[in-house]
Amino acid sequence: SQAEIGLIGLGVMGSNLALNIAEKGNKIAVFNRTVEATHKFYAEAGELQGQIVPCDTIEEFVAAIRPPRPIIIMIKAGEPVDQQMKILEPYLAKGDIMIDAGNANFRDTMRRFDALKDSGLTFIGMGVSGGEEGARHGPSIMVGGTEDSYKRVETVLTSIAAKYDNDPCVAWLGENGAGHFVKTIHNGIEYADMQMIAEIYGILRDGLKMTAGEIGEVFGAWNKGRLNSYLIEITEKVLKAADPLTGKPIVDLILDKAGQKGTGKWSVIEAQNMGVPATAIEAAVAARSISSAKDEREAAEKILGLPDVGEFKVADKAAFIKDLENALLAAKIGAYAQGFAVMSAASKEFNWSLPMPTIAKIWRAGCIIRSQFLDEITTAFTKAPDAANLIVTPAFAAMVKETDGALRRVVSAAALGGLPAPALASALGYFDSYRRGRGTANVIQAQRDFFGAHGFDRVDGADAHHGPWGSGLNA
Ligand code: NDP
Repeated sequence: SQAEIGLIGLGVMGSNLALNIAEKGNKIAVFNRTVEATHKFYAEAGELQGQIVPCDTIEEFVAAIRPPRPIIIMIKAGEPVDQQMKILEPYLAKGDIMIDAGNANFRDTMRRFDALKDSGLTFIGMGVSGGEEGARHGPSIMVGGTEDSYKRVETVLTSIAAKYDNDPCVAWLGENGAGHFVKTIHNGIEYADMQMIAEIYGILRDGLKMTAGEIGEVFGAWNKGRLNSYLIEITEKVLKAADPLTGKPIVDLILDKAGQKGTGKWSVIEAQNMGVPATAIEAAVAARSISSAKDEREAAEKILGLPDVGEFKVADKAAFIKDLENALLAAKIGAYAQGFAVMSAASKEFNWSLPMPTIAKIWRAGCIIRSQFLDEITTAFTKAPDAANLIVTPAFAAMVKETDGALRRVVSAAALGGLPAPALASALGYFDSYRRGRGTANVIQAQRDFFGAHGFDRVDGADAHHGPWGSGLNA
């Protein structure tokens, strides 16, 4: 019998995804640019070999798949995907579906989708989250493309996706770039989640002078509460792990320079393009950038010194640690609220009708930001699908009111203690700006009118739109 699906690219993600597909009873044809990787993959597939058709040529590969052929391309993102598509295209027939499962920029996905429009072929942009482990045993899968093309692959994708209470973490989210856009925002939120955890770690390490192991205990305890999530779980493990060479905590030996591949930055760029604040994500992206300027930071510390703030003191350590837990929850709410707000704006901008409750639902398991918290977001958006923002849904408004005091105290303590907490602070700034009906942009408008005659609206509705600036006008 023919293979139900094909996959090109047997790197880390592709080979794990292929094994997952085969294990769930789907016959799969595989191909890799470098043939040796295909042979090695097949040789190591063990009892799954019966479900796998290894192919050395594209011709063989295409012939092995049942039409209309769904073909997953899981290779290095960017230019390689265009090259691979070009190589593949002449062998395909009407109705065949190319599925880019890498971390594409959704604008590339829209371009590729459009480019295939008149060829009779279709294109799916599919975000896959969960890393190596997720790909192998159940990722979260965000699909964008035509709904018809999704139907062709729905059964296979449902079989391999992570499950949350038996609900598969896969969904069709909209046309063309919708899946990759949602994956991008997922990663943006992931950046913020990780950065906020790192800032809290910094307060425990440099403020309370706790050891990595002690901080690991704190995260372990939090993982049993409302912060329960994959990222908190692995943070505990990371903090408790010892270096095999020295026996010291491994985190203490890891260079404090964070890498990034672009999805966080894209989230922020798209948010800015649409005029939607994503300040927590932006702070997290900026924090990675500043982290990578290690030499510059060390030089600056020599010139400026650390802030002259004296010893970091808290009156009640246990109460402060409770505050840190609540602060992290509050800040996390801010980051997710921003991420969902960006998706909501993009949904209108690109005509996608992104289903917010479904997005939260398929993030509950499989992906890096998976958590019980996402189940609460699912419920909140299901009950209030038209809410302007997550934080004004009844459940989250209550949570913000309950925890924002702790966030305020923690951000204050960090500031007074000279410890950086830019992502936590940006979430607090977001809440405080968003919930204030009368802001301060009246001054901005006055200034703009003063130097540029831009005009303003009045709160009393009167028909006078310029200020009494006299000769200042147009100066
Ligand atoms: P790897 O580096 O492990 O594998 C890269 C694959 O791309 C190899 O199969 C390689 O083939 C192939 N490739 C590279 N250039 C070309 C080309 N020009 N033409 C054809 N094939 C090419 O990457 P990953 O598996 O980690 O990542 C794959 C995709 O998945 C990326 O888009 C990544 O961003 C995304 N992703 C990765 C995650 C992760 O945790 N690693 C998580 C989620 C998404 P060859 O053997 O011939 O070099």
